[in-house]
Amino acid sequence: MDILKLARKNIRELTPYCCARRESEGETGILMDANENAFGSPGGEGLNRYPDPLQRSLKESIAGYRETRPERVFLGNGSDEVIDLLIRAFCEPGEEEIMIMPPTYGMYRACADINAVGTVKIPLTPSFRIDRERVRGGITGKTKLIFICSPNNPTGNSFDPGVIESIIRSFRGLVVVDEAYIDLSPAQGFTGWLEEYENLVVLQTFSKAWGLAGIRLGMAFAAESLIRILNRIKPPYNVNAATQEAARQAILNHPVKDTMVERIVRERSWLRQKLEGLPAVIRVYPSETNFLLVRFRHTSAVFRYLLCRGIRVRNQSRQVHCDGCLRITVGTRRENELLVRALKDYGGSP
Ligand SMILES: *Cc1c(COP(=O)(O)O)cnc(C)c1O
Repeated sequence: MDILKLARKNIRELTPYCCARRESEGETGILMDANENAFGSPGGEGLNRYPDPLQRSLKESIAGYRETRPERVFLGNGSDEVIDLLIRAFCEPGEEEIMIMPPTYGMYRACADINAVGTVKIPLTPSFRIDRERVRGGITGKTKLIFICSPNNPTGNSFDPGVIESIIRSFRGLVVVDEAYIDLSPAQGFTGWLEEYENLVVLQTFSKAWGLAGIRLGMAFAAESLIRILNRIKPPYNVNAATQEAARQAILNHPVKDTMVERIVRERSWLRQKLEGLPAVIRVYPSETNFLLVRFRHTSAVFRYLLCRGIRVRNQSRQVHCDGCLRITVGTRRENELLVRALKDYGGSP
């Protein structure tokens, strides 16, 4: 498969903007090329210089940690930027489409809408599995990207790898597997499949298990040819210096992440068990993420009641197959206890 051929014509033919630091060998020599402040900054050491536009040092760390090569890594200002860049690179506005499988993460459709790209929705089955036949039937000549979120937000489950593989094998466009929650799941994930499938893109993020939602850093792992396309169209300095440094530190301290993951997983099962015993709760869905999808009786009343008690959860009632469901992020033990206490006070037997 020729990935470049999948890209939009104007993207294939584009002359990328050449920022000052891209051409030079990093920060050697006397830096009079980028109109920076040569005297420093009141905001922090080293921050007066533009960051490495290709984040080479950070990509080395990430590639080492994920056992891949830096050339296979693309970094964005959150996964959200990567989702947008993928749609912009591969889908012709007003003509081409992405496919999603609701209920799922809202940014795929939002980014498609902003880019005037169509969205074909093939809902999951009521038990939150991929409907393989309908996916097959929904693919047209206009379909360029298929987004599969696994483990899925907001349902919390991951999908059968065999089904995902069969979609990657049979589809002539790109399959984007969003693994935002992979560190919280026993599932293997798809980065190991990149050598085999050139049309596979795996998204991961520092926002969840790594605890770094504030620095905005998302990753794409894919074929080198695809990474090169994204590099051509990204804003030159899309990942700032403070973010690059914080992420490098986080990877050096990766055992801390593993310890936090263990705690989240432990709290997840504690919270699940407590919620299952409450009269207001109809069902707690299994989760391989840091949240629980919970079906309630009188959901909007529960939602408003929790808000009054200062507890913010996400109402998912309007998503397909999620009527009556709230999405609750796993908190610390104290936060989880306060939630359970509030729901006990609410009562709400049928
Ligand atoms: C939270 C989340 C992300 C993370 O997005 P960032 O922009 O990296 O913070 C990506 N995908 C899904 C499905 C998510 O739930």
